[in-house]
Amino acid sequence: MKFAIFGDIHANLEALEAVLLDAADQDCTHFTCIGDIVGYNANPRECMRVVQQLDCPVVKGNHDEEASMSTEIVGLNPLAHRALEWTRDALSESDKEWLQELRFVRQVRDFTIVHATLDSPSGWNYVTNKFDAMASFAYQFTPVCFFGHTHAPRFYVKDQNVQLEMGDTIRLEEASKYFINVGSVGQPRDGDWRASYAVYDVDNQVVTVRRLDYDIKKAQEKILKAGLPEMLANRLTLGK
Ligand code: ZN
Repeated sequence: MKFAIFGDIHANLEALEAVLLDAADQDCTHFTCIGDIVGYNANPRECMRVVQQLDCPVVKGNHDEEASMSTEIVGLNPLAHRALEWTRDALSESDKEWLQELRFVRQVRDFTIVHATLDSPSGWNYVTNKFDAMASFAYQFTPVCFFGHTHAPRFYVKDQNVQLEMGDTIRLEEASKYFINVGSVGQPRDGDWRASYAVYDVDNQVVTVRRLDYDIKKAQEKILKAGLPEMLANRLTLGK
């Protein structure tokens, strides 16, 4: 059995479609979404429909939360402010209710999913080093947890110590715990513009991060056509 584990889609339909095609190619039969379906790019509703049709476990991301609220937007830079306003306008009331009801943490079979951190799932802190990962490990009660939020794929491994392991594949050992960032489908920020997600091969206990080309031009054209900030289109090419 193989799971496709994906998140930080950020309303990028072209990237999401590329990921799901590849997941089918990889014989993934199960799906799990680690949040931030909406925000930044031009197809929030379309991406929501795709995820809803998969009928898979989903956790809430900070953009899902912000987009589903009607409170005044404070503390965001003008660009993020504009993008959030646009997304709120694009979503229906029932879309917002669906996003609002998502949980912060879920257990799926023998693993956990969370958008940002396990020590404060609704606090939206970033795990950017092994010390941040240690705090999450203290609240991780399954051997593996998948997360996102930083838009950079990473494997954190805990045995006697916690360390960051590089590479795109990791074999899971029984004596260790794993906190795995699957990267971002729709707005990678590790300098590689290609869509990122992970395949969890349960039978062989292997997790592989996959990177995929997608029709970035089309996604960028949609952003400009929607009247979203041009910088959101430009950053897709940079992978930042
Ligand atoms: Zn995100």
